[in-house]
Amino acid sequence: MTAVLDNHCHIDPRNGDGIDAVRRFARSGGTHLCIVNKPSWSLDVEASDADDFREVFDETLRTVEEADEVLEGKAFAVLGVHPALVSKLLGRLGGPQNDEGVERAEEVMKTGLEVAAEYVEEGRAIALKSGRPHYDVQEPTWELSNNVMEHAFRLGADHDCAVQLHTESGDDFTDIREMAEDVGMSPDRVVKHFSSPNVSAVRRSVIAYEENVFEAAEDGRDFFLETDYLDDAERPGAVLGTRTVPKRVDALLDEGYDDAVDRACVTLPEEVYGVDMSL
Ligand SMILES: [Zn+2]
Repeated sequence: MTAVLDNHCHIDPRNGDGIDAVRRFARSGGTHLCIVNKPSWSLDVEASDADDFREVFDETLRTVEEADEVLEGKAFAVLGVHPALVSKLLGRLGGPQNDEGVERAEEVMKTGLEVAAEYVEEGRAIALKSGRPHYDVQEPTWELSNNVMEHAFRLGADHDCAVQLHTESGDDFTDIREMAEDVGMSPDRVVKHFSSPNVSAVRRSVIAYEENVFEAAEDGRDFFLETDYLDDAERPGAVLGTRTVPKRVDALLDEGYDDAVDRACVTLPEEVYGVDMSL
């Protein structure tokens, strides 16, 4: 039996199937999950200080613990601040042209990341989650978001952990690679979530559509596989279901891509996250 990792999903017992979705993953042959906290607003938390973020992260950690019991392997927590929180915050704080509001929003976002880094330090999470908006924003918002992402890299360097990113779509992320290097973080531990197979300069976590997966396996560069499963009953089928990664791994093995599967599900996660993927 091989380890099968979904590198980025959300499990939400409050708004979705919760542990039943994990059971489906396990029954299909999945063994390990990176469970990423839902954005604070989707849990009705109006984030403004450290305790607000703790509330969100603690809820994710309870889910991770439960998932861990269901899985043959392990469930890991990835904690951080969704980049779109910036728009919610600025909406409350007078918009991107209000300097004081921009400063305050940056502070709140950084606080969330610092709390997440505490959890990493305690061994309760394996990586941070940060990034920048995937939609058009005004210049002050973009600058603020890059500052926040750079702060995540600084924390990643200080706490010796990986950073998963939610960003705009694109292929060449050299600017992000350089940003990480500039603050002493290894860009090999920067993982672009929701990647197309063409993503370069940082680690690609390829969204597991069939054609993507084979394209990634074929070019020989390392990749993770993920579904970004949302577990939201109001948006069924918005992204891929939890059975998808095990299914793709089976298909890859059938076609003889054993090495790619071993890299994606065992050695790469061990290198990037410093976890033990043995079963
Ligand atoms: Zn996600």
